[in-house]
Amino acid sequence: MRRPLIAGNWKMHGSRAENAELIEALLLGLPAQTPVDIVVCPPFVYLWEIGRLVKSSNIALGAQSVCAEQVGAFTGEASASMLKDVGCRYVIVGHSERRAIYKEDDALVARKFLAAQAQGLIPILCVGETLEERERGQTMQVVSRQLTAVLDLAGVAALRAAVIAYEPVWAIGTGKNATPEQAQEVHAHIRTAVAGRDAKIAADVRILYGGSVKAANARELFAMPDVDGGLVGGASLKADEFLKICAAAQTH
Ligand code: PEP
Repeated sequence: MRRPLIAGNWKMHGSRAENAELIEALLLGLPAQTPVDIVVCPPFVYLWEIGRLVKSSNIALGAQSVCAEQVGAFTGEASASMLKDVGCRYVIVGHSERRAIYKEDDALVARKFLAAQAQGLIPILCVGETLEERERGQTMQVVSRQLTAVLDLAGVAALRAAVIAYEPVWAIGTGKNATPEQAQEVHAHIRTAVAGRDAKIAADVRILYGGSVKAANARELFAMPDVDGGLVGGASLKADEFLKICAAAQTH
C-alpha cells in the first residue's frame, strides 16, 4: 500500500509575510494526523524560515532544485548538504522549467538526483513530455529516456528512497490537466519500466501526477490506480485549494 504524497511547488512566489500567512492557514486546516505525506517547496531564500514554521508539524520541507556538486565555486547554487542543513527532507529534480529554461539535460538531472540522495534527501524526479512530443506520439519514449538516465546512473535500488512525478509539460501552469486516463496510462508505463528492473521497487515507488492539479480535479486524478498523489504548482499557493487537494488524496 503506497502512502499518498502531496508536494507544493511554490516556484518563485511568495514573501516572508505571504509565506507566514499561507503556512499558518495550512497548519490550522490540517488534522494532527494525516494518512498522506505533505511537502512544501518554497524558494531557497525562505527554506530556513519555513522550516522553523513547519517544525513538529506534519508538513515536510522540500527544495525546488539542488546543485549536482557538493561544495565549491558554483556561484548561485545550493548543495544537498546545505538543503539538509536547513531542514529539507525532499528536493525536486528535473522540473520541466529547469530542463527548458536552464537547459538541464538528462545527465545533469541524474547527477542532481545522486547528489541529493548522497546527503539523505528524497529526490522528487520530474519527467514529462512537451505538447509537440505528445502529438508526435513520443510520450512514452521521452518519459522512458528521462527515467533511464537516472536508473542507469543511480541504480533501481535508489528508487526505494525517491519519488517520481509525471508532469506533462503542456499541463503545467496552463489550467489544462491531463485526463485521469492519460495520467494513468503514463504512470502505468513508468511503473512497468521500473518493474523491468525490480518488481518490488516498482510496486512500492510513489508516482505523483503534476500539471494543473486543483481541488476540482484532484479526486478523479488520485483515484487512478497508479497515481499516488500530486506535485502541485499554482494551487499550492492558496491554502484552501491545497488543503482540499490534500484531503482528496486521503480518501484513496
Ligand atoms: C509544477 O510546477 O510542478 C506544476 C505542476 O504547476 P501547476 O500545478 O501550476 O500546473
